[in-house]
Amino acid sequence: STPTIRAVSLPDAGTVPALGLGTWYMGERPDRRPTELAALRTGIENGLTLIDTAEMYGDGAAEELVSEAIAGQRDSIYLVSKVVPSHATRRGTVEACQASLRRLGTDYLDMYLLHWRGRVPLAETVAGFEELVQAGLIRSWGVSNFDTDDLDQLASVPGGARAQTDQVLYNLARRGPEYDLLPRCRQAGIPLMAYSPVDHGRLLEHPTVRDMAGAKEVTPAQLALAWVLRLPEVFAIVKASTPARVAENRAAIEISFSTNELKQLDQIFPPPSSKEPLEML
Ligand code: NDP
Repeated sequence: STPTIRAVSLPDAGTVPALGLGTWYMGERPDRRPTELAALRTGIENGLTLIDTAEMYGDGAAEELVSEAIAGQRDSIYLVSKVVPSHATRRGTVEACQASLRRLGTDYLDMYLLHWRGRVPLAETVAGFEELVQAGLIRSWGVSNFDTDDLDQLASVPGGARAQTDQVLYNLARRGPEYDLLPRCRQAGIPLMAYSPVDHGRLLEHPTVRDMAGAKEVTPAQLALAWVLRLPEVFAIVKASTPARVAENRAAIEISFSTNELKQLDQIFPPPSSKEPLEML
């Protein structure tokens, strides 16, 4: 039997599975749609019930694909979407959410994120998020691509402390957040949502990742994912477009590392020794 996926607690007492499904670049190619749908459904059937999408992805096409994948099982899904900064005024945030909900074929989001920081004052976006919470259109909200100074500014606006997560680039090749962002999130009591956990595919070709994966009799994707998931306060979203890859990724939750293996990885992918500005894709 397959072990269940660890649940990560959010400050509002909600929980999410530690591993979920990304959707960037999905839903854009009609010829690939059936396989992508099957990939998402395979994930859901196997406990990857956290789905990350955004209005930006394929200009709404990813949300439409997700709508089809979750049809008839909305309540067992933890659904996350994002507003682009150019829409993130108070009113624009509400309208963007309503448009996302229409494309997603649902009447609520579990979490709504500001995709990255733009020019709109954070107080406006937060007011929009809080209005959506009041109206029952979203159950919670958070941010994405926020570095420590952005989180400090967020904490200073009314309601800003209600953010549930910060979704950021974090993987073996992008360890900058370990220096200060991860500790900052720990202090704020919010888990970090790691995107591009296999570095958008690049880590799968890395010789060290391939060698260690071979030695452990796991795949490179499983090794990279298991490494991100080694931390209890981190959850991750990985994108894969076929059922077989999704099933492979799901099995990563069973993999652990010896102290020696972690040391070997630290030598090739050194942890940060000083502040590194947050990278984004
Ligand atoms: P990932 O690190 O998830 O890598 C995705 C790539 O890896 C795809 O090319 C995929 O191939 C490939 N891949 C995945 N699993 C396997 C496997 N088992 N074997 C072989 N290849 C594999 O990158 P993403 O950038 O997609 O990040 C994940 C998600 O995070 C996004 O989809 C999106 O939802 C979110 N994200 C958010 C950002 C933000 O700014 N907030 C920015 C970037 C991502 P294939 O698809 O062909 O199967």
